[in-house]
Amino acid sequence: MRPKILLLEDDSAIAGTVAFALEREGFAVVHALLLRDADRQARRERPAAAILDVGLPDGNGLDLCRCWRADPSFATLPTLMLTARGEEIDRVLGLEAGADDYLSKPFSPRELVARVRALLRRATMPKAAPATDGLLLDEAGHRVLFAGQALPLTRLEYRLLRDLLLARGRILSREALLQSAWGADSEAADRTVDTHIKTLRAKLRDAGPAADGIATHRGVGYAWAPVSPGPLPTD
Ligand code: CA
Repeated sequence: MRPKILLLEDDSAIAGTVAFALEREGFAVVHALLLRDADRQARRERPAAAILDVGLPDGNGLDLCRCWRADPSFATLPTLMLTARGEEIDRVLGLEAGADDYLSKPFSPRELVARVRALLRRATMPKAAPATDGLLLDEAGHRVLFAGQALPLTRLEYRLLRDLLLARGRILSREALLQSAWGADSEAADRTVDTHIKTLRAKLRDAGPAADGIATHRGVGYAWAPVSPGPLPTD
């Protein structure tokens, strides 16, 4: 059966191009023009992934994403946001709303299809434990263990690592990390996050070469990208 992709896009020219590209690559497309239709279709059709536009006649695609993340039956639905040209803020908000990826308009349909494939691939990877590569998150004890030993982390480093592990590969913006680790009214700057990530990574590498799974996404933020035990197949 062809994997179903829910496409929420009110611009019919963009929707047509995207649907054509996806269908040519073997996907079935469920198209919605409005937020409320998208939510209804998602519940009825149970898509494998969703592509959500941000600006819609009846609201904001980010709100739907946020809503799904709070709903256990949609919390893990792979979701890609389409943001308007040059709307940097949307990109950050998209990740904070729980989107798995974003693409700015104009985009190439091939790029979109590649991103959707990557989302589906990631979604089918086993998600047994939030920590991988020998790392174990002990939230009750406010510590992270590697090979059975607690890492010598400061309070801030622990919080940063906890957030990254719990996000399970989703990119967290510096703003999101600042808010969570330092608190909403902190005067710390984005650069402070970078500094602490740097010392955190050094400590992880000290613990073991495979322990550092932090990936830097330039201009966006950080994510936990577990080190693979072997070479990944390329496609
Ligand atoms: Ca739109």
